[in-house]
Amino acid sequence: MKITESLIERLFKLNLQSRLVVGFLIATCLTGLFATIISVWTINRSTIAEVQNRVRQDINTAKLIYNGTLQKITSLIQFTAEGSDLREPVTGQDIARMGHLRGLIRKGTDPQFQDNHLFLDMITIVDNGGNVLYRAGNPEIRGDNLLQDPFVRNCIEKKTPLSSTELMSIESILRENPALSERAKTHIIKTPLAAEITEDKLSEGMVMRAAYPIMNKQKKLLGILIGGVLINKDNAIVDQIKETVYHGEKYNGREMGVATIFQGGVRISTNVMTKDNRRAIGTILSKEVYDQVIREGKDWVGRAFVVNDWYITTYTPIFNMDKTLIGVLYTGILEAKYRDIQWKTIWINLGITTLGMIIAFIISLRLGNTIITRIRMLKEATEAIASGNLDYKLSPDKISGFDMLDEAFNYMSRSLKDHDDQLQKMHQQLAKTEKLTALGEMAAGVAHEINNPLGGILLYSNLVLEDIPEDSPARENMQKIVYQTNRCKEIVQSLLDFARTPTGDMLPLQINQAITTSLKLVRDQSMFHGIEIETHLAENLPEVIGDRSRLEEVFLNLFINAADAMKGSGKLSIVTGLSTNNGIRIFISDTGKGIDEEHLSHIFEPFFTTKEPGKGTGLGLSIVYGIIRKHNGTIDAESEPGKGTTFIISLPAYRGKYSGMDDDVFYS
Ligand code: ADP
Repeated sequence: MKITESLIERLFKLNLQSRLVVGFLIATCLTGLFATIISVWTINRSTIAEVQNRVRQDINTAKLIYNGTLQKITSLIQFTAEGSDLREPVTGQDIARMGHLRGLIRKGTDPQFQDNHLFLDMITIVDNGGNVLYRAGNPEIRGDNLLQDPFVRNCIEKKTPLSSTELMSIESILRENPALSERAKTHIIKTPLAAEITEDKLSEGMVMRAAYPIMNKQKKLLGILIGGVLINKDNAIVDQIKETVYHGEKYNGREMGVATIFQGGVRISTNVMTKDNRRAIGTILSKEVYDQVIREGKDWVGRAFVVNDWYITTYTPIFNMDKTLIGVLYTGILEAKYRDIQWKTIWINLGITTLGMIIAFIISLRLGNTIITRIRMLKEATEAIASGNLDYKLSPDKISGFDMLDEAFNYMSRSLKDHDDQLQKMHQQLAKTEKLTALGEMAAGVAHEINNPLGGILLYSNLVLEDIPEDSPARENMQKIVYQTNRCKEIVQSLLDFARTPTGDMLPLQINQAITTSLKLVRDQSMFHGIEIETHLAENLPEVIGDRSRLEEVFLNLFINAADAMKGSGKLSIVTGLSTNNGIRIFISDTGKGIDEEHLSHIFEPFFTTKEPGKGTGLGLSIVYGIIRKHNGTIDAESEPGKGTTFIISLPAYRGKYSGMDDDVFYS
């Protein structure tokens, strides 16, 4: 637990990219592992279970073949006993007439049951007292009594045919047929994992036996015919099982299916091979199978280690006539094929997992790279914006999937910039207003002070002028004084206008009308002769509250300035419309010389002029500014030197409720 905790802790301390990589790798590794376990488990469940089912059926087939062989021996004995009519020779103990039975004894040392299915290893005729009349496998020995043989005794007592697998001592087997000496002797081979068996060789052999009573017509028992086949080292049955059940199928050069007959726990007939490719005769059953099948007499189904490999097996006990367990019948399928499938699946899964991990590694590495690059870019962009570079933009990267973030960032920087621009504009406006207000106050003060003395000068100079005779040369000078004083008065009046901007009645009016009236006044003047006038006056504009004559003065001033700037040729255009906040906007543009940038912020100041002395007073635009402010509006100028200038006036719309204008807006 501690180790995993510290591992997780360490993982969280890694940088983002390593965390991504490790996370991806763990995820794919776990998925792969899980998939492997699941598929192996599924294979185990489905395949191995199916194979076990199959071997369960196989043992039934094996039993059928085993019993079929016993049945064949029984039929052969019955056929011989009845067919060759042994009654007379038995009654008359005529051995010569029994000699033909020798033909049924098979010859050769390595018999194959299939080839010799009509041959037996032993045939004996006994009389009704159990005395041997004739031994086809060993005719020299006769006259001995076989009543101590339970199988013979049983048949004599019951007078019925018998057949079963029995153990016979090697001695009695050899007495029946000395040629069996090689097959009857089995040396026990001790192997690891095998059950504990102390003997070195078997003292008995396993024989499939059949006995048939020979009766006379009065149903009196005359004797019996006994025949048998020694199973030891006779591989006919197991090979037939192998061929019938497994069709001799091979896997990697080894038999897929095998069968064995055990005498006790020792293999006496088998097609399980040892490493040196000999039949594993004499080898011993594994301990666990021995304990379950031989000790407890139960079937065994499952994995078992057989000689030198693992098999999926079934073992079933073989009983003799007395229901005593004398041997075991076995069938098994080589597990290697299924184990190989299992390993193959594991390897394939591991391969896929490794491939997945490699892909995950590459993807997470690239992904991590992209994320980190983008984060770095975002960090740089944020720092740029923080240091005041509001124009900084991220180029949207559609491929990496961060375009949403980029767009959001750009949107943020854009609105920051908009707000900043607005703030700066407002700041400038405020500064301009403050400056113009201060100037206005000063101008008003000065004008006030000068106005009265100027009135005095004018009054007295007029009085003096009246007294000067017509022909006096001083009269002309006096007239100049009066003229210049009047001019001074006009300027002072203009100053007062700019400062206090007296207005007449403020009434609702159509701004388009005021513009048209002003245009009519100037249109025919010589300075407008070469100038094209274009108007786009929006219809159905709301009214504004204002002093008509003062507003006309504004337009006149602007038109005359425009004409001045165009020097007799160009285009004056006047556009009216609604502004975004539902006020009224007026654009007055000319194609004149324009205003230099350094002058643009000063044009509304009183006495600012670029005209030669005597030509302009520099009061025109400041009066315009004063009037517009008085109407709660704003005026601005945009200009491109050499191309022209546009004045933009905004005025609030009259919405039907007039409660009088603030008389002192300008100074408020
Ligand atoms: P004045 O016309 O007596 O110079 P104004 O206050 O009317 O005084 O104008 C101030 C200055 O603004 C002008 O001297 C001129 O430089 C500049 N100006 C005003 N209107 C325009 C215009 N339409 N085009 C170019 N410059 C202009």
